[in-house]
Amino acid sequence: MAESSGGALPAKVIFGKYELGRVLGRGASAKVYYARHIASGRSVAIKVFPKPRRPSSSGSSSSSSSSSSDSFIREIFALRLLRHPHIVRLHEVLASRSSVYLVLELAKGGELISRVHDRGRLPDDLSRRLFHQLLSAVSYSHSRGVFHRDLKPENLLLDDAGDLKVSDFGFSAVSSFSEDYLLHTQCGTPGYVAPEILVSRKGTTGYDGAKADIWSCGVILFVLNAGYLPFNDRNLVSLYRKIHRGHHRCPRWTQPDLRRLISRLLDPNPATRISVDGILRDPWFARDVDPDQLATMMRPQGSDAGLDDKPHRRRGGELNAFDLISFASGLDLSGLFVDAASDRVRFASVEPVDRILDRVEEVGKEEGLVLRREGEKGSAAVIEGHKGEFVLRLQVHRLTGGTAVVEVEVGSGSYGSFWNEKLRPVLRGPLHLGGLG
Ligand code: ATP
Repeated sequence: MAESSGGALPAKVIFGKYELGRVLGRGASAKVYYARHIASGRSVAIKVFPKPRRPSSSGSSSSSSSSSSDSFIREIFALRLLRHPHIVRLHEVLASRSSVYLVLELAKGGELISRVHDRGRLPDDLSRRLFHQLLSAVSYSHSRGVFHRDLKPENLLLDDAGDLKVSDFGFSAVSSFSEDYLLHTQCGTPGYVAPEILVSRKGTTGYDGAKADIWSCGVILFVLNAGYLPFNDRNLVSLYRKIHRGHHRCPRWTQPDLRRLISRLLDPNPATRISVDGILRDPWFARDVDPDQLATMMRPQGSDAGLDDKPHRRRGGELNAFDLISFASGLDLSGLFVDAASDRVRFASVEPVDRILDRVEEVGKEEGLVLRREGEKGSAAVIEGHKGEFVLRLQVHRLTGGTAVVEVEVGSGSYGSFWNEKLRPVLRGPLHLGGLG
């Protein structure tokens, strides 16, 4: 696809507001395009994901945490919580019948890894500046309960001033501040992944997402300084063995104080691995920066502007795809979850299926309406008006992690006043309807 400026082909306009240009990059789950916001002329990056399949009544199509739909939901959820000068900004989310579009801040300088490849390795001062920016972004994300879990130079982009922009939160996890909260999902990229993630699975104690990100920061710092990976092997088993031992060898040019920091970052024991506070006090990290400057850097102005705290009030647990719907106000996901062509409303609930249907039943009884349960394990309710003037069908699709999608559909007649005045207010309160109803 030709870029709009200067290309011979006419630019493709999407949603009447963005001109799509050339492909900037592609990953396993999405393709990223350069684009121009027509009204303002502003350049952006648009990450296009194929639209996920609709949830089946068993919830099976949405339950896999590694599915591409989870990847974009995770990314939207994380980026919506984060506003930081060194994290790519999410401007807008749009959806068509076939794709979901994340409109992102454009990182004009491309991938950091290309700089490392071009130069072989980076000089100490530049590595330190970029590492400051990385740590500022990572520590801020952790303070918002977001763990990236796939930090690697390929996911570190640069702006036109050469400053860092952390991107690709498709593997991220968002948690509450529950102290005993530990992650279980195995994810990340071999070579960058912390040893405790490799052994983590359901039934084990899990791992600390913050410590796992710190390990990846250690691998990144090593790569910036050395120009190659600290742990590398064609054979995956041998690679994992090396990671478990944490054995790495810094090149001869690595300064002693940097060697020390790298070995504290690449400590295979997460309990003794250096923390963010420890890094701030590290001599290599703190060199030539006064403490006030460092403090400002670690908490840049405006980081938290305009963000809500809803997810932090939740009880512990990883967010799954449909938790997003609960917090979707402000995001235009209407094309995804509301069928505009029919009188149908879908929304997310964090209540058990039976509890939702009990509420519906209570309202139906109060109004003296005819009500019957239907569907597999009684997961649907049909409500008929006194004189058969309307039929309203409500189906609850159970998903993973105690989440459900509720679908309300009118069969015939006018159901508007019953839905809007009676049923909807009762469901709205406990169901975290967000912006979608
Ligand atoms: P993965 O395979 O790691 O899951 P992905 O499908 O999530 O990748 P990204 O890594 O986010 O996709 O993006 C693919 C590439 O697109 C990046 O490596 C980068 O070159 C480019 N890209 C992504 N976001 C931007 C951006 N905001 N500005 C400029 N280029 C970008």
